[in-house]
Amino acid sequence: MLVGTVLSQNTNDRNSFAAFSRLTSKFKTAEELAHAKLSEIEELIKIGGLYQEKAKRLKEISKLVLTKYGGDLKSVLEKPIEQAREELLSFPGVGPKTADIMLAFWARHDIIPVDTHIFRVAKRLGFAEERDGYEKVKTKLEQVILPGRRIEAHMLLIQLGRKYCRSRNPLHEKCPINRLCPIGTRYAGLSRPLPRHARSR
Ligand code: SF4
Repeated sequence: MLVGTVLSQNTNDRNSFAAFSRLTSKFKTAEELAHAKLSEIEELIKIGGLYQEKAKRLKEISKLVLTKYGGDLKSVLEKPIEQAREELLSFPGVGPKTADIMLAFWARHDIIPVDTHIFRVAKRLGFAEERDGYEKVKTKLEQVILPGRRIEAHMLLIQLGRKYCRSRNPLHEKCPINRLCPIGTRYAGLSRPLPRHARSR
């Protein structure tokens, strides 16, 4: 999961999946990756973009996982969430989004990792301010999304961002929740957005 998340940075899903599949068909463990030649990793993940930087990071992370954790991150992910997050953030190239994806999808903590789509959608929907950074957007979303449904919300917001609330040319008219959105109400023919308490349901 950590390798896949590093490979997904700054690229589209198709290319990051292709890079992941090529890499993991050859290297299956942290040990194999830690001992691999940098040039070989680069070649395998080239399709994913930023391959030199990502290859370097993956090799460094693998070495760390191997030397500090015996090749298995389970011991980190079993720690209390704040401690686990802090430890993951100390890994080379691991930022808040990557750490939160590990915590949500592997350790099953009830949080919302914020990717680029969620970042944009949360602001357009009015759940966060334009100037808000990662931590604020995450906290604000977690305040309005019911516990137990945050991972589901994460997945649905990403789908919304990919399909309708695109960075360029968003499809406001076709958006299924346009009547709940301050921008979308113009396109849904409503004069005012629904109040916040109604929007969070
Ligand atoms: S109405 Fe437009 S801005 Fe609002 S969520 Fe839908 S696509 Fe995004």
